Amino acid sequence: MTLFRATVIDTPGDPFSVDPAGALSADQDGGLLVRDGIIVHRGSFGTLRTKFPDEPVTELRGGLLLPGFVDTHVHYPQLRAIGGLGMPLLDWLDRCALPEESKFADAGYAKIVAGEFLDGLIASGTTTALVFGAHFAAAMHELFTAAADRQLNITAGLVLSDRILRPDLFCTVEQGRSESQALIDRWHGGGRLRYAVTPRFSLSTTNQLLAVCGDLMRANKDVFFTSHINENLAEVATVAELFPESRDYLDTYHRHGLVNARSVYAHNVHASDKELALMGETGAWAAHCPTSNASLGSGLFPLRRHVEHGVGVSLGSDVGGGTGLFLLKEGLQAYFMQQLLGADGLPLTSVHLLYLATRAGARALGLADRVGDFAIGKEFDAVWLRPASGSPYSINLAHAVDATDALARTFALATSADVAGVWLKGDRVGAGR
Ligand SMILES: [Zn+2]
Repeated sequence: MTLFRATVIDTPGDPFSVDPAGALSADQDGGLLVRDGIIVHRGSFGTLRTKFPDEPVTELRGGLLLPGFVDTHVHYPQLRAIGGLGMPLLDWLDRCALPEESKFADAGYAKIVAGEFLDGLIASGTTTALVFGAHFAAAMHELFTAAADRQLNITAGLVLSDRILRPDLFCTVEQGRSESQALIDRWHGGGRLRYAVTPRFSLSTTNQLLAVCGDLMRANKDVFFTSHINENLAEVATVAELFPESRDYLDTYHRHGLVNARSVYAHNVHASDKELALMGETGAWAAHCPTSNASLGSGLFPLRRHVEHGVGVSLGSDVGGGTGLFLLKEGLQAYFMQQLLGADGLPLTSVHLLYLATRAGARALGLADRVGDFAIGKEFDAVWLRPASGSPYSINLAHAVDATDALARTFALATSADVAGVWLKGDRVGAGR
């Protein structure tokens, strides 16, 4: 066993349904006893040290120990396409994202980027992710293989499209079915890996192929589903033209049985009340991707309306539309957006932000019984933020008056350069410093 000594902060509660202060748990000089990757005791370091005097201690003082971050929308084949500024969504896809994604037809290329991508997640403190995959099955094998090697908690799937995008990204309906099923059979439920059925968005997916997605969900009971929705007004208008029989964008998925508690929809910036009501009733989640929404000019996310309709919201970096893999930056940008919405916004505390970056994502992915906080019985996935001595972050952390204040200063100032250590199921991974 190992006794970790640190300033330990997590959000075992849900600050959107209880007083934020009650959702937080914090120990300034805390202890976590970890055996075989599982947290078996938690408390003050002094108490645990007295109880377990012989266990080796890992000292992680001078910073914060947080649960590993959970990114619920991030594109593996866009790792090398970050920073395409100045374009709205559909132009950005054509000119920036899709040419890069075509390169994943080459499994050798995919293998290299899969490693870069997953190591990038770890270096950013992300230990669990719902990954939007590539359009090529061999590239998905490379991603799953690399994720298994690293013990990351990854849910991902082959991306399916059969129209409007560049043709080299298309699959046939039968190919979509057979290749997805083969990947599910090979990878789903193995170790920390799971499969997500993944049509790119209904704009680029015919009803025939969406029906295959529904078949896959029914045939494989516990696989997940993810796609895009209501990101950009031009996209929403095109989907309305392509699906005259559907009452709204969400209905293009709902008709095929794709809206349920195992669905995570990215963006949902321009959601109608009807769509939100259906998501709330069915338990579908929204992955909010604030730097992407700001960068592509997609819009200001209506968080308050999601919460009022009982829709769970988690965070996504949406790399490469987003501007990096570090999820605390997404938390800060989410806070900015709600401030800019004025009376329509939902003012966020630092407790909300930590919840969004950790436990909310674990709940969205059905993993809240395993990761997302430091409760006893959970797997020890953790990130240690330790600012460089003398840096503005370090100075602010030293002057924080309590855990909420320390978190607020962390969201304002921390970067991935402050990630000093990452643990996956109790094992330290990555270089650290
Ligand atoms: Zn996306």
